[in-house]
Formats: sequence, structure tokens, C-alpha cells
Amino acid sequence: MAEIKQVTVIGTGVLGSQIAYQTAYSGFTVAVYDINDEVIGKARDVTFPGLAKTYLAEVKDADQEKVDAALKRLSFHTDYASAAAEADIVIEAAPEKLELKEQIFAELNKVAPERTIFCTNSSTLLPSDIAPSTGRSDRFLAMHFANRVWQFNTAEIMGTPETSPEVFEQVVEFGRQIGMVPIPMHKEKAGYVLNSLLVPLLSAAAGLAAGDYADPKSVDDVWRIATGAPLGPFQIYDVIGLNTPYNIMMSGDAEQQKLGAWLKENYIDKGRLGMASGHGFYDYT
Ligand code: NAD
Repeated sequence: MAEIKQVTVIGTGVLGSQIAYQTAYSGFTVAVYDINDEVIGKARDVTFPGLAKTYLAEVKDADQEKVDAALKRLSFHTDYASAAAEADIVIEAAPEKLELKEQIFAELNKVAPERTIFCTNSSTLLPSDIAPSTGRSDRFLAMHFANRVWQFNTAEIMGTPETSPEVFEQVVEFGRQIGMVPIPMHKEKAGYVLNSLLVPLLSAAAGLAAGDYADPKSVDDVWRIATGAPLGPFQIYDVIGLNTPYNIMMSGDAEQQKLGAWLKENYIDKGRLGMASGHGFYDYT
């Protein structure tokens, strides 16, 4: 099986830019795709130089030479053919809409070499949902990163029954080569490992506070002190930002929607959106 050298990342939003930069920082050549000149120009001129600064400040072994070298390994594209022409692996990090991802993989299948492995970074879709559109189900799987890839460096790897075991292993190894801790999943599971654990925890915490059993700080104290965890669930809400858990709750059952309404009324509507806004369950000013 051909060694992975050339990587293509589709989408330069929150996750795509991080995946592309982390991969380039790890020594790979990375072609980055986005929809038009304006978006790709912003990625080149603002997002990636910003990530280089973040790496300098936050990544232990980073120095000016390394972060500049990573920037030089990136190339920028607005057509799939030039973005994927040499790709050994493509990682798709486009918006979370099935039809959009299907379109992207169908286009990529026309222009990428036969050897190219296709991965999706989708958080909520199963790779089986997307596989038929790829035209290469044996070379398609999910590789799911966490926000702030340089710090929270898991890569959950999840195939379909049709994914070739050799391709799966190659992506696990590639995950290691780009500084991730690969988490191989034995079969498909919505939410992977992380969200299968985190979503119920956050929801249970909201249930305790919304039902007035205990206040958020007490809930966090119990979780930290009694389990040794570094953060309590409400501190985790603040790190993620409250909008994402709210959206997940509102797509759940009546009980979940009640918790979503509580979150909105008491926090989101008051501008308490989490750490990034300076206020959430805690104040950060
Ligand atoms: P985002 O909205 O920040 O970025 C999406 C990018 O895709 C943008 O650059 C946009 O211009 C581009 N795009 C739009 N239409 C496109 C098209 N037709 N073809 C190609 N690119 C297009 O989204 P994000 O938060 O980076 O999420 C991207 C994917 O990563 C989603 O599948 C999401 O589930 C997953 N994910 C997100 C997070 C997170 O914390 N944000 C974490 C893990 C996984």
C-alpha cells in the first residue's frame, strides 16, 4: 500500500484549518480546498498565520522556524481537481450536511487517483450514510478530530463494514504520524467514544441544576473532587460554548428539549455563551 505523503483537506473552517495545519506541522505536504477565492484567501492570510501564532504560544516544541515551515507546506485551491490530484488521503471537514458531503465525495471520486483514501471528520453522521457517494467504500472511513487538535489530540477512527482493514490500519498509523492518539473503533457508533460519554454527562449535569437539586458549582465540585477529573461538566460547557450542547438538546426528546430551554433562558439569552464570550456558567473576565 502506498505510503501517505500528500494530504488534502476540504474546508478551512474551525476544524479543517486545524487538521490541515497540524498535518503540515507534522511534516506532510497539504493541499487545502475551500469554495472560492475570498474564503481560501482569508484562510491563507488570516486563519493559518493565526494558527501559527497559537502553536508558537501553546505547543511545547514549537519555534518560529517550525511554524513557518508548516505554513510553507500548505497550498491553496478552489477546485477539486487541483486540490486532490496528488492526494494519498483526503480529509473532509465541510459543513455538517449529508447532501453536501455526498456531493463533495462524488466530485472528489472523479478527480482523485484510485489509490486515494477518503475520510470524513463528521461529528454526527455515520460513515455508512456517506459511503455510497464516495464510489470507493473500501477506501472510505471517518477520522474524527476534537476542536483544538494540538491540545486535545484524539483521532477517533471509525470504518464501515466495507472499509478495508488495511486502509483502516493505514489511517490509524497516519493519525500517529500527525501527532494524534488514534482511537480505533471496532464498529460504527453515533457520537464515537467521546460524545457517547460526554453528551449524557453534560445532560445529567443540566438535569441536576435545572431541577434545582444542586447548583452548577456544586455539581462541578462533586465531579472533580470525587473522581479526580480536571474539569466539572459545567466547566466543560463553558469550554465548548453553550450553543452546541443547546442544539444537541433541542434535537432530542421532550426531556432534552426542556433542558435546552433552561440553558437558553438562563444563560444563552443573557449572553453567557461560554468561555469565548467571557461569561458562561462562570465568569472569565
Ligand atoms: P465550519 O463551518 O467552521 O467550516 C466549514 C468549512 O467548509 C468552511 O470553511 C466553508 O467555507 C467550507 N465549505 C462550505 N461549503 C463547502 C463545500 N460545498 N465544499 C467544501 N467546503 C465547503 O465547520 P467546522 O466546525 O469546521 O465543522 C466541519 C466538520 O467537522 C463538520 O462535519 C463537523 O461535524 C466536524 N467537527 C467539528 C468540530 C467542532 O468542534 N467545530 C469537532 C469535530 C468535528
